[in-house]
Amino acid sequence: QHLLPPRTEQHIDKKCAVIDLDETLVHSSFKPIHNADFIVPVEIDGTVHQVYVLKRPHVDEYLKRMGEMYECILFTASLAKYADPVSDLLDKSGVFTTRLFRESCVFHRGNYVKDLSLIGRELNKVIIIDNSPASYIFHPDNAVPVISWFDDPTDTELLDLLPFLEAIAESDDVYSVLRTHGFTS
Ligand SMILES: [Mg+2]
Repeated sequence: QHLLPPRTEQHIDKKCAVIDLDETLVHSSFKPIHNADFIVPVEIDGTVHQVYVLKRPHVDEYLKRMGEMYECILFTASLAKYADPVSDLLDKSGVFTTRLFRESCVFHRGNYVKDLSLIGRELNKVIIIDNSPASYIFHPDNAVPVISWFDDPTDTELLDLLPFLEAIAESDDVYSVLRTHGFTS
């Protein structure tokens, strides 16, 4: 039983991009932020907390472009009751074909690991874009590392990654491109 359903016709020739949420695309806080992009109510143990969400600079353009190039999967170690409403607000055009949450992670040595061998795609056609190396400790060769983002309004990481992600999308095998960029051993 795989985590993803079979590829749709639209994505049959596309590689799969497994994309993280927190500190990759957004940063969220329980502390009020005056310039929050979204405020999401989340119930924890019977109490509703407001979660203040900041969008990383250029995330809209990034997701639009990624959706054109890849089959995009949201894969987060966060709980669905937080990440699902955030994704509804962040991904209005439905770039993410599937959303995977904490229960789809493997708990390994104190970390939630995203085990790419469980998703049901050929591994040489899969990349994982994540700020946390622990997330891809089982598949470091598939990783596109991202600098963690909290609130820097001048951050251009998502835009800066696009040319590289375009090269991977056009390659036969993700490892060939990742290797030339020195991300893999
Ligand atoms: Mg993260």
